[in-house]
Amino acid sequence: MRSATVPRSKLPDVGTTIFTVIGQLAAEHDALNLSQGAPNFAPDPALVESVARAMRDGHNQYAPMAGVGALRDALAEKTERLYGTRYDPSTEITVIASASEGLYASISALVHPGDEVIYFEPSFDSYAPIVRMQGATPVPVKLAAPHFRVDWDAVAAAMTPRTRMIIVNTPHNPTATIFSADDIAHLTRLTRQTDIVILSDEVYEHVVFDGTRHESMARHRELAERSVIVSSFGKSFHVTGWRVGYMLAPATLMDEIRKVHQFMVFAADTPMQVGFAEMLAQPASYLGLAAFYQNKRDLLARELAGSRFELLPSEGSFFMLARFRHFSDERDSDFVLRLIRDARVATIPLSAFYTDGTDDGVIRLSFSKDDATLVEGARRLCNI
Ligand code: GLN
Repeated sequence: MRSATVPRSKLPDVGTTIFTVIGQLAAEHDALNLSQGAPNFAPDPALVESVARAMRDGHNQYAPMAGVGALRDALAEKTERLYGTRYDPSTEITVIASASEGLYASISALVHPGDEVIYFEPSFDSYAPIVRMQGATPVPVKLAAPHFRVDWDAVAAAMTPRTRMIIVNTPHNPTATIFSADDIAHLTRLTRQTDIVILSDEVYEHVVFDGTRHESMARHRELAERSVIVSSFGKSFHVTGWRVGYMLAPATLMDEIRKVHQFMVFAADTPMQVGFAEMLAQPASYLGLAAFYQNKRDLLARELAGSRFELLPSEGSFFMLARFRHFSDERDSDFVLRLIRDARVATIPLSAFYTDGTDDGVIRLSFSKDDATLVEGARRLCNI
């Protein structure tokens, strides 16, 4: 249909997300998909049964705006047990319709026109556009290859009186790095006696490798008091398509965020919330996740050992970065296209995670796939 009006775009430079673009190309070329951080294996049948039962038992109407009570209670218990901070389920915990919704609701509730928001690049692709939608300015601080550690002096230099928020993400998508105690100390020092809010994307909170602990903002009282933590059931229970996550924040912040959440989605899906509440009663259902994904990381690394790629360390998340610059000068996006067409394996070019298109000749591999896919994907990458 021809449109009667041409809208003035709020995001003129934004196209379709890289995950959708690569996913479509992968399907067209029948390529194995090591691109999106989405599992290709089934969730626990007990979870599916819980949700089916919830539907049969009549849990099919609106949940409370903040989320099903039993689920918020279970989240309060889990967070206190793992990270030592008690969040009040009635005022400080909200169930959301995906972590993406939580990011949008938090940023739009707390960031005003003219504000500045510091975040780290490479980064997940939604942060900067959401900030811009508020009439605010995203201020990227670069994580430099190959270690991708935060340069806290650069953060200090980027801070101004307009800095309203710092977005952190640990374990980090796409670099697979995690925050250390030292990072926490720097963040605490830099935000002390400011009114900066920390938006902490912790969707991979249970996917931290080699016995290292996840540095949740909820472990650190001073940071917790200024933080909005966003997490995901999709990532933790292999159901990214269900679109359910949760947020933790002090009540004064959460009050404002709920005002947006109630008008964006009102409430997250009810039967899924009932199912997750039952699963959280068995901590083994998510505490085994680190070992589960560490095995997948190690399998992929082992199978790629004979390839020409230089694998960068993966400390957590579903991802591993692989360098190819030493054997090809191609742009990473061209290289990825060639992999899809010729090797029939789909990955993500790291440049897609930078607003300035920085290209260090690195691709992102997702190992949230069944073992057969990882072995076959690696075999195809070894032929490059
Ligand atoms: N978080 C996942 C990734 O980075 C999927 C994101 C998406 O498809 N929107 O791959």
